[in-house]
Amino acid sequence: MRKNIVAGNWKMNLGYEDGLSLFSEIVNMVKDEVVGNQEIVVCSPFIHLSSLSKLSNTVTNVHVGAQNMHQAESGAYTGEISGAQLKSVGVTHVILGHSERRAYFGETNALLAEKVNASLKHGLKPIFCIGETKEERESGEFFAVLKQQLQEGVFHLSEEEFKNVIIAYEPVWAIGTGLTASPEQAQEVHAYIREEIAKQYTQAIADDTSILYGGSANPGNAQSLFSQKDIDGGLIGGASLKSRDFIEIVKVFN
Ligand code: 13P
Repeated sequence: MRKNIVAGNWKMNLGYEDGLSLFSEIVNMVKDEVVGNQEIVVCSPFIHLSSLSKLSNTVTNVHVGAQNMHQAESGAYTGEISGAQLKSVGVTHVILGHSERRAYFGETNALLAEKVNASLKHGLKPIFCIGETKEERESGEFFAVLKQQLQEGVFHLSEEEFKNVIIAYEPVWAIGTGLTASPEQAQEVHAYIREEIAKQYTQAIADDTSILYGGSANPGNAQSLFSQKDIDGGLIGGASLKSRDFIEIVKVFN
């Protein structure tokens, strides 16, 4: 059966000490309070990863992820970080294709397919983000946009490879805007994504794939979103920067 996953995306926030404090609070809350067997993934800036991954070793269901990586093995790519480097500090997950990377850094589906391949090669689980803009939603084209992102970004993978992929549906218009997709809107898209996975692979693989929702999720709306049958968790931005809010979202699955 697929896993429930709550992932935090800290984006470009928090200095080193602040990041360590936030993560320690999260780990302590997970230890002190009853948290079921949902998985927690904290995706921090690169500077925190090594320290967080050591701290995460004290709890079994807390993992550490990066927010991006380069597709090459190593070499003359000034300023970049490779999958092998992430693996070497104990990172287990990596967000790929976040809409901010697509919009501000020109990441295309073709480039993302290479990054997905490189992440899997190093045993990192990609959290592959897809999502439509406001214009694409309003024009009614959004299913086609999402389908293309899946086809070009991850559907080249073999069945065995695809089993390690987590999908995050993040409507661009809902990110950081306070506008959340309604539970019905999100469920409609999640069901569509699962159907496309079933068509590309098998129903069993589709049923085992965790599909997360992201976009202004918070402790107030997480319950109604996560109770939808095809929503298996969340990718949380703003609310992941406060330990109490983040843990309240995690505990929706208790
Ligand atoms: P917010 O939760 O701040 O809207 O961000 C969502 C997001 O982009 C997570 O990757």
